[in-house]
Amino acid sequence: MSEPSRLRLGVSACLLGQTVRYDGGHKRDSFVADVLAAHFELVPTCPEVAIGLGVPRAPIRLVQTAAGVRVRGVRDGSLDVTDALDGEAARVHRARPDLCGYVLKKNSPSCGMERVKTYTEAGMPHGRAAGAFAAGLIARAPLLPAEEEGRLNDPALRENFIERVFAYARWQALTAGEIAGAALIDFHSRHKYQLLAHNQAAYRRLGPLVAQAGRRPTRALIDDYGRQFMAALARPASVGNHVNVLQHLAGYLKDVLDGGDKAELQAAIDDYHQRRAPRLVPVTLLRHHLRRAPQPWAAAQTYLNPDPRQLLLLNHP
Ligand code: SF4
Repeated sequence: MSEPSRLRLGVSACLLGQTVRYDGGHKRDSFVADVLAAHFELVPTCPEVAIGLGVPRAPIRLVQTAAGVRVRGVRDGSLDVTDALDGEAARVHRARPDLCGYVLKKNSPSCGMERVKTYTEAGMPHGRAAGAFAAGLIARAPLLPAEEEGRLNDPALRENFIERVFAYARWQALTAGEIAGAALIDFHSRHKYQLLAHNQAAYRRLGPLVAQAGRRPTRALIDDYGRQFMAALARPASVGNHVNVLQHLAGYLKDVLDGGDKAELQAAIDDYHQRRAPRLVPVTLLRHHLRRAPQPWAAAQTYLNPDPRQLLLLNHP
Protein backbone atom coordinates (compact mmCIF):
# COMPACT_ATOMS: atom_id res chain seq x y z
CA MET A 1 0.00 0.00 0.00
CA SER A 2 1.43 3.41 -0.92
CA GLU A 3 2.15 5.88 1.87
CA PRO A 4 -0.44 8.70 2.08
CA SER A 5 0.94 11.95 0.72
CA ARG A 6 2.67 14.00 3.36
CA LEU A 7 1.17 17.22 4.66
CA ARG A 8 3.15 20.37 3.92
CA LEU A 9 4.43 22.81 6.54
CA GLY A 10 6.04 26.15 5.83
CA VAL A 11 9.17 26.77 7.88
CA SER A 12 11.68 29.55 8.45
CA ALA A 13 14.63 28.33 6.36
CA CYS A 14 17.30 28.95 9.03
CA LEU A 15 15.58 26.37 11.28
CA LEU A 16 16.51 23.69 8.75
CA GLY A 17 20.18 24.64 8.93
CA GLN A 18 20.19 26.78 5.81
CA THR A 19 22.85 29.47 6.17
CA VAL A 20 20.55 32.40 5.46
CA ARG A 21 20.92 34.49 8.62
CA TYR A 22 22.19 38.04 8.43
CA ASP A 23 25.58 36.86 9.73
CA GLY A 24 25.80 33.89 7.35
CA GLY A 25 24.84 31.41 10.06
CA HIS A 26 21.77 29.29 10.73
CA LYS A 27 19.56 28.32 13.66
CA ARG A 28 19.08 24.61 12.99
CA ASP A 29 16.42 23.16 15.29
CA SER A 30 16.61 19.39 15.62
CA PHE A 31 12.89 18.87 16.27
CA VAL A 32 12.06 20.78 13.07
CA ALA A 33 14.95 19.53 10.91
CA ASP A 34 14.89 15.89 12.05
CA VAL A 35 11.48 14.99 13.50
CA LEU A 36 9.06 17.22 11.58
CA ALA A 37 11.06 16.67 8.38
CA ALA A 38 10.55 12.92 8.73
CA HIS A 39 6.76 13.26 8.83
CA PHE A 40 5.95 16.35 6.76
CA GLU A 41 7.08 17.92 3.54
CA LEU A 42 8.75 21.10 4.74
CA VAL A 43 8.63 24.20 2.54
CA PRO A 44 11.43 26.55 3.64
CA THR A 45 11.40 30.31 3.08
CA CYS A 46 13.76 33.01 4.25
CA PRO A 47 11.75 36.18 3.71
CA GLU A 48 14.77 38.46 4.13
CA VAL A 49 16.69 36.62 1.42
CA ALA A 50 13.54 36.43 -0.73
CA ILE A 51 13.24 40.23 -0.76
CA GLY A 52 16.83 40.53 -1.93
CA LEU A 53 18.70 41.46 1.24
CA GLY A 54 21.44 38.88 0.59
CA VAL A 55 23.74 36.93 2.92
CA PRO A 56 25.49 38.33 4.85
CA ARG A 57 23.45 41.49 5.26
CA ALA A 58 23.13 44.46 7.56
CA PRO A 59 20.91 43.61 10.58
CA ILE A 60 17.36 44.94 10.81
CA ARG A 61 15.04 45.46 13.77
CA LEU A 62 11.51 46.49 14.67
CA VAL A 63 11.11 50.23 15.27
CA GLN A 64 8.05 51.79 16.88
CA THR A 65 7.16 54.90 14.86
CA ALA A 66 4.18 57.24 14.79
CA ALA A 67 3.02 55.27 11.74
CA GLY A 68 3.21 51.94 13.57
CA VAL A 69 5.90 49.27 13.84
CA ARG A 70 8.38 49.33 10.95
CA VAL A 71 11.29 47.05 10.06
CA ARG A 72 14.37 49.18 9.60
CA GLY A 73 18.12 48.84 9.34
CA VAL A 74 19.98 48.93 12.67
CA ARG A 75 22.82 50.97 11.24
CA ASP A 76 20.97 52.66 8.36
CA GLY A 77 17.58 53.86 9.57
CA SER A 78 16.60 54.90 6.05
CA LEU A 79 16.42 51.22 5.08
CA ASP A 80 12.76 50.20 5.58
CA VAL A 81 11.76 46.71 4.46
CA THR A 82 8.35 46.52 6.17
CA ASP A 83 6.33 46.61 2.97
CA ALA A 84 8.68 44.23 1.16
CA LEU A 85 8.36 41.65 3.96
CA ASP A 86 4.59 42.04 3.97
CA GLY A 87 4.66 41.56 0.19
CA GLU A 88 6.65 38.35 0.64
CA ALA A 89 4.01 37.13 3.11
CA ALA A 90 1.35 37.88 0.48
CA ARG A 91 3.37 35.98 -2.14
CA VAL A 92 3.78 32.89 0.09
CA HIS A 93 0.09 33.01 0.99
CA ARG A 94 -0.89 33.11 -2.69
CA ALA A 95 1.67 30.55 -3.85
CA ARG A 96 1.18 27.95 -1.08
CA PRO A 97 -2.50 27.41 -0.32
CA ASP A 98 -1.46 23.78 0.33
CA LEU A 99 0.37 24.56 3.58
CA CYS A 100 -1.23 23.01 6.68
CA GLY A 101 0.91 24.83 9.21
CA TYR A 102 3.91 27.07 9.66
CA VAL A 103 6.92 26.94 12.00
CA LEU A 104 8.47 30.35 12.50
CA LYS A 105 11.78 31.46 14.02
CA LYS A 106 11.26 33.24 17.32
CA ASN A 107 12.68 36.70 18.06
CA SER A 108 13.20 37.56 14.39
CA PRO A 109 11.98 40.99 13.19
CA SER A 110 10.73 39.13 10.11
CA CYS A 111 9.67 35.66 11.28
CA GLY A 112 8.91 36.06 15.01
CA MET A 113 5.22 35.53 15.76
CA GLU A 114 5.07 37.62 18.90
CA ARG A 115 7.16 39.29 21.57
CA VAL A 116 9.94 40.40 19.21
CA LYS A 117 11.80 43.39 20.73
CA THR A 118 10.95 46.80 19.35
CA TYR A 119 13.02 49.96 19.63
CA THR A 120 12.33 53.68 19.54
CA GLU A 121 13.56 55.63 16.53
CA ALA A 122 16.44 56.74 18.77
CA GLY A 123 17.39 53.09 19.28
CA MET A 124 16.15 52.60 22.83
CA PRO A 125 14.31 49.39 23.83
CA HIS A 126 10.57 50.04 23.61
CA GLY A 127 8.25 46.99 23.70
CA ARG A 128 7.29 43.83 21.84
CA ALA A 129 5.54 43.10 18.55
CA ALA A 130 5.28 40.49 15.80
CA GLY A 131 7.79 40.25 12.96
CA ALA A 132 6.57 41.74 9.67
CA PHE A 133 6.54 38.53 7.61
CA ALA A 134 4.82 36.53 10.36
CA ALA A 135 2.24 39.26 10.96
CA GLY A 136 1.48 39.49 7.23
CA LEU A 137 1.12 35.74 6.90
CA ILE A 138 -1.13 35.33 9.94
CA ALA A 139 -3.31 38.28 8.88
CA ARG A 140 -3.90 36.64 5.49
CA ALA A 141 -4.27 33.07 6.77
CA PRO A 142 -5.74 33.43 10.26
CA LEU A 143 -6.80 29.77 10.46
CA LEU A 144 -3.37 28.39 9.50
CA PRO A 145 -1.74 26.79 12.57
CA ALA A 146 1.47 28.70 13.22
CA GLU A 147 3.98 28.24 16.01
CA GLU A 148 7.49 29.31 16.93
CA GLU A 149 10.21 26.67 17.19
CA GLY A 150 10.96 27.64 20.79
CA ARG A 151 7.40 26.96 21.93
CA LEU A 152 7.49 23.53 20.27
CA ASN A 153 9.86 22.41 23.03
CA ASP A 154 6.86 22.49 25.38
CA PRO A 155 5.17 19.06 25.07
CA ALA A 156 1.63 20.48 25.49
CA LEU A 157 2.15 23.22 22.89
CA ARG A 158 3.82 20.75 20.54
CA GLU A 159 0.92 18.31 20.83
CA ASN A 160 -1.53 21.16 20.31
CA PHE A 161 0.27 22.41 17.18
CA ILE A 162 0.45 18.95 15.60
CA GLU A 163 -3.19 18.26 16.39
CA ARG A 164 -4.20 21.58 14.79
CA VAL A 165 -2.13 20.84 11.67
CA PHE A 166 -4.02 17.59 11.05
CA ALA A 167 -7.38 19.19 11.91
CA TYR A 168 -6.64 22.07 9.52
CA ALA A 169 -5.75 19.58 6.77
CA ARG A 170 -9.15 17.91 7.25
CA TRP A 171 -10.85 21.32 7.20
CA GLN A 172 -9.01 22.31 4.01
CA ALA A 173 -9.98 19.03 2.36
CA LEU A 174 -13.63 19.58 3.34
CA THR A 175 -13.78 23.16 2.09
CA ALA A 176 -11.63 22.78 -1.06
CA GLY A 177 -14.70 22.82 -3.32
CA GLU A 178 -18.39 23.50 -3.00
CA ILE A 179 -19.72 21.85 0.13
CA ALA A 180 -23.22 21.13 1.27
CA GLY A 181 -24.53 21.84 4.75
CA ALA A 182 -24.77 18.08 5.36
CA ALA A 183 -21.01 17.73 4.94
CA LEU A 184 -20.43 20.43 7.55
CA ILE A 185 -22.82 18.70 9.94
CA ASP A 186 -20.91 15.43 9.43
CA PHE A 187 -17.56 17.19 10.00
CA HIS A 188 -18.84 18.73 13.23
CA SER A 189 -20.30 15.45 14.36
CA ARG A 190 -16.95 13.66 13.98
CA HIS A 191 -15.08 16.41 15.83
CA LYS A 192 -17.44 16.84 18.78
CA TYR A 193 -15.29 15.16 21.39
CA GLN A 194 -12.11 16.75 20.10
CA LEU A 195 -13.80 20.15 20.54
CA LEU A 196 -15.09 19.20 23.98
CA ALA A 197 -11.53 18.35 25.07
CA HIS A 198 -10.26 21.77 24.04
CA ASN A 199 -12.99 24.23 24.77
CA GLN A 200 -16.35 23.40 26.33
CA ALA A 201 -17.83 26.84 25.55
CA ALA A 202 -16.92 26.51 21.86
CA TYR A 203 -18.32 22.97 21.84
CA ARG A 204 -21.65 24.34 23.07
CA ARG A 205 -21.58 27.26 20.61
CA LEU A 206 -20.70 25.31 17.48
CA GLY A 207 -23.60 22.83 17.72
CA PRO A 208 -26.30 25.52 17.29
CA LEU A 209 -24.15 27.17 14.62
CA VAL A 210 -24.08 24.00 12.52
CA ALA A 211 -27.83 23.64 13.01
CA GLN A 212 -28.20 26.81 10.90
CA ALA A 213 -27.23 24.80 7.81
CA GLY A 214 -29.94 25.30 5.21
CA ARG A 215 -31.19 28.49 6.88
CA ARG A 216 -28.12 30.61 6.24
CA PRO A 217 -25.86 31.06 3.17
CA THR A 218 -23.52 28.07 3.24
CA ARG A 219 -20.30 30.01 2.51
CA ALA A 220 -20.91 32.47 5.38
CA LEU A 221 -21.74 29.61 7.72
CA ILE A 222 -18.60 27.70 6.73
CA ASP A 223 -16.37 30.74 7.22
CA ASP A 224 -17.88 31.37 10.63
CA TYR A 225 -17.57 27.72 11.65
CA GLY A 226 -13.97 27.40 10.39
CA ARG A 227 -12.88 30.45 12.35
CA GLN A 228 -14.47 29.25 15.59
CA PHE A 229 -13.38 25.63 15.08
CA MET A 230 -9.68 26.45 14.66
CA ALA A 231 -9.80 29.02 17.48
CA ALA A 232 -11.28 26.38 19.79
CA LEU A 233 -8.50 23.90 19.02
CA ALA A 234 -5.84 26.57 19.62
CA ARG A 235 -6.52 26.32 23.35
CA PRO A 236 -4.51 23.29 24.58
CA ALA A 237 -6.72 20.58 26.07
CA SER A 238 -6.28 20.09 29.82
CA VAL A 239 -5.93 16.71 31.49
CA GLY A 240 -9.25 17.36 33.26
CA ASN A 241 -11.03 17.99 29.96
CA HIS A 242 -9.50 14.85 28.46
CA VAL A 243 -10.72 12.80 31.44
CA ASN A 244 -14.19 14.30 30.98
CA VAL A 245 -14.19 13.23 27.31
CA LEU A 246 -12.86 9.76 28.11
CA GLN A 247 -15.61 9.28 30.70
CA HIS A 248 -18.25 10.46 28.20
CA LEU A 249 -17.03 7.92 25.68
CA ALA A 250 -16.84 5.20 28.33
CA GLY A 251 -20.51 5.95 29.01
CA TYR A 252 -21.42 4.57 25.59
CA LEU A 253 -20.09 1.20 26.74
CA LYS A 254 -21.79 0.95 30.13
CA ASP A 255 -24.37 -1.59 28.94
CA VAL A 256 -21.92 -3.46 26.73
CA LEU A 257 -18.84 -4.22 28.82
CA ASP A 258 -18.64 -6.85 31.54
CA GLY A 259 -17.41 -5.93 35.00
CA GLY A 260 -13.79 -6.82 34.27
CA ASP A 261 -13.59 -4.75 31.09
CA LYS A 262 -15.29 -1.80 32.79
CA ALA A 263 -12.81 -1.90 35.67
CA GLU A 264 -9.88 -2.14 33.25
CA LEU A 265 -11.13 0.89 31.29
CA GLN A 266 -11.73 2.95 34.44
CA ALA A 267 -8.26 2.04 35.72
CA ALA A 268 -6.73 3.18 32.42
CA ILE A 269 -8.58 6.52 32.60
CA ASP A 270 -7.54 6.93 36.22
CA ASP A 271 -3.90 6.11 35.40
CA TYR A 272 -3.96 8.80 32.73
CA HIS A 273 -5.61 11.25 35.16
CA GLN A 274 -2.87 10.58 37.73
CA ARG A 275 -0.20 10.93 34.99
CA ARG A 276 0.85 7.31 35.42
CA ALA A 277 0.07 6.42 31.79
CA PRO A 278 -0.21 8.23 28.46
CA ARG A 279 -3.66 9.12 27.08
CA LEU A 280 -3.06 6.61 24.30
CA VAL A 281 -3.77 3.76 26.77
CA PRO A 282 -7.45 4.58 27.55
CA VAL A 283 -7.95 5.81 23.96
CA THR A 284 -6.75 2.46 22.58
CA LEU A 285 -9.01 0.55 24.96
CA LEU A 286 -12.00 2.71 23.99
CA ARG A 287 -11.30 2.20 20.28
CA HIS A 288 -11.06 -1.53 20.79
CA HIS A 289 -14.37 -1.78 22.65
CA LEU A 290 -16.27 0.75 20.50
CA ARG A 291 -15.31 -1.14 17.32
CA ARG A 292 -17.30 -4.09 18.60
CA ALA A 293 -20.13 -2.11 20.17
CA PRO A 294 -23.08 -0.74 18.17
CA GLN A 295 -21.87 2.83 18.55
CA PRO A 296 -20.64 3.88 15.08
CA TRP A 297 -21.07 7.58 15.91
CA ALA A 298 -18.77 7.36 18.93
CA ALA A 299 -16.32 5.08 17.14
CA ALA A 300 -15.98 7.61 14.28
CA GLN A 301 -14.85 10.46 16.53
CA THR A 302 -11.59 12.09 15.42
CA TYR A 303 -10.68 12.14 19.10
CA LEU A 304 -10.34 8.35 18.98
CA ASN A 305 -8.91 8.17 15.47
CA PRO A 306 -5.96 10.50 15.08
CA ASP A 307 -3.90 10.16 11.92
CA PRO A 308 -1.23 7.45 12.48
CA ARG A 309 1.46 10.02 11.65
CA GLN A 310 0.03 12.25 14.38
CA LEU A 311 0.37 9.41 16.87
CA LEU A 312 3.98 8.78 15.86
CA LEU A 313 4.77 12.42 16.44
CA LEU A 314 2.95 12.58 19.75
CA ASN A 315 4.87 9.59 21.05
CA HIS A 316 8.18 11.08 20.09
CA PRO A 317 10.13 11.86 23.30
S1 SF4 B 1 14.49 34.13 10.98
FE1 SF4 B 1 13.43 34.25 9.01
S2 SF4 B 1 14.36 36.01 8.00
FE2 SF4 B 1 15.74 35.45 9.67
S3 SF4 B 1 17.22 34.05 8.74
FE3 SF4 B 1 15.58 32.79 9.57
S4 SF4 B 1 14.21 32.49 7.85
FE4 SF4 B 1 15.52 34.23 7.33
